[in-house]
Amino acid sequence: MATLWRRRERLLGVSGRLCRTVRALSGKNEYDLLVIGGGSGGLACAKEAAQFGRKVAVLDYVEPSPQGTKWGLGGTCVNVGCIPKKLMHQAALLGSALKDAQHYGWNIAQPVHHTWSVMAQAVQNYVKSLNWGHRVQLQDKKVKYFNMKGSFSDPHTIRGLTKGGKETIVTAENIVIATGGRPKYPTHIAGALAYGITSDDLFWLKESPGKTLVVGASYVSLECAGFLTGIGLDTTVMMRSIPLRGFDQQMASLVTEHMECYGTKFLKRCFPTKVEKLESNKLQVTWKNTDLGTEETDCFDTVMWAVGRAPDVKTLNLDAVGVKTNSETGKIIVDASEATSVPHIYAIGDITEGRPELTPTAIAAGKLLARRLFGQSSELMDYDNVPTTVFTPLEYGCVGLSEEAAVQCYGSDNIEVYHAYYKPLEFTVAERDATQCYIKMVCLREREQRILGLHFIGPNAGEVIQGFALGIKCGATYPQLMKTVGIHPTCAEEITKLHITKRSGLDATVTGC
Ligand code: FAD
Ligand code: NDP
Repeated sequence: MATLWRRRERLLGVSGRLCRTVRALSGKNEYDLLVIGGGSGGLACAKEAAQFGRKVAVLDYVEPSPQGTKWGLGGTCVNVGCIPKKLMHQAALLGSALKDAQHYGWNIAQPVHHTWSVMAQAVQNYVKSLNWGHRVQLQDKKVKYFNMKGSFSDPHTIRGLTKGGKETIVTAENIVIATGGRPKYPTHIAGALAYGITSDDLFWLKESPGKTLVVGASYVSLECAGFLTGIGLDTTVMMRSIPLRGFDQQMASLVTEHMECYGTKFLKRCFPTKVEKLESNKLQVTWKNTDLGTEETDCFDTVMWAVGRAPDVKTLNLDAVGVKTNSETGKIIVDASEATSVPHIYAIGDITEGRPELTPTAIAAGKLLARRLFGQSSELMDYDNVPTTVFTPLEYGCVGLSEEAAVQCYGSDNIEVYHAYYKPLEFTVAERDATQCYIKMVCLREREQRILGLHFIGPNAGEVIQGFALGIKCGATYPQLMKTVGIHPTCAEEITKLHITKRSGLDATVTGC
């Protein structure tokens, strides 16, 4: 068997060398563009390049999670990110709507309960349809798809390996790295890897995670903890420092305050030290409470690590070609044109240093790169004023600078903050608490009052902020916003009515309609 294997390896090695020799002799690469990574950025780049009639290939390979979860073509967003997350968030919102419905006259038979397996199956089926859709699109656009893990052999040559170990050598004039990132495991914590899961597993669980501890306090953690709470699971967030680092901290506090009212438990200023599996199959977690200086424990059915994401560059063999990475983050260093330190090798999306880890930025960067490479465009990706939304039970959407960042850039004397506490009309009849429904607009204080940042907590925050982001991208000012006629009665309308400044100290609660 071992002899057979060595013979096979030798043969494959010969085919690789042969391919490189053919390229050396003909001076021609097989593809105009080869993209490593079939996620948001990679697929967008490949499809756009193909529109220009270029010969394009994509390599995509999903390394199963440490718990063995795997999925199809489309990357993080489609399989273990935005899409299943938003659908499960919707499941939770429907739970709240059911409660509201009774106030609106609906007779909902009691007890109402949620079945994880039904939701999970439906979400997973939809994700699988997207995997299929991506394959069809590549075929339609004549992009060659290799289900292989890629690594560099030389600056124009990629060695692709299938799950079964079959090797293919592909050469290309231009190579784009779009391999994204994967959740980190805190491997220094005993039992973390053996017993914990990450967001790579959560959406693919066949059975309910039950009583869950989510460690971390950023996007992934709060969003997942939010929908788990919303579908009725006993959910705890362990937060070692602040929530939503990098976001406006007043807004972040309102988001977690609302989650606490909604039923999510928070272990603040705590960090885990070990996870043990008991005979009962429960997971016993031990943690340190830094405020009290105590060690505490509790048992959970599931422990989910949401402690950040890391680029997986090791398998790419970047050292062989000299693509430079940041030694701390491991991410690939690129310039404004997404070029790496090696000519004709580019990188886009989550794998790149200093870029937002968001699907729309990865897609836009990929498309623009393809147009610059093959379409005589010189347009660069503009990463300023990228809107985003945290899909917590009460959503938080924002674009532009936080109040802290604006103060740091311009000084507190030079900024004006308009704000309002408002009550969505839908909350009134339903008797929902609206304490955390808050809007804040950060402007320059000079005559024009250019808007620097807009922050909105409330229903459909993503939909609200998306529209206003256009105005802010175009340099909208406070007076222009005041000339914008609202749509009544909506939550977004409240933005067009902002008139109380923080500086005035006046009560910012909206009264009347
Ligand atoms: P990815 O989409 O991660 O694609 C990379 C692909 O490359 C993967 O398929 C990977 O398996 C493959 N690959 C890796 N190495 C190799 C190799 N050597 N050879 C071949 N293939 C390889 N963003 C939003 O905008 N909105 C959201 O609501 C949102 N929600 C999220 C929720 C969660 C839980 C998570 C984790 C992320 C979320 N994101 C969201 C972020 C978003 O998913 C990412 O920013 C986006 O997917 C990045 O795209 P990408 O192309 O850089 O990489
Ligand atoms: P982040 O890196 O943003 O946050 C990691 C969190 O884990 C922080 O709260 C951090 O705390 C905490 N943490 C780190 N290490 C430990 C540890 N050892 N023990 C306890 N806590 C720890 O990662 P996310 O995975 O949440 O998000 C990654 C990116 O994915 C985001 O930046 C975002 O761009 C994208 N995303 C977008 C979404 C959207 O658009 N709606 C949704 C989800 C993800 P501390 O602050 O103290 O360091």
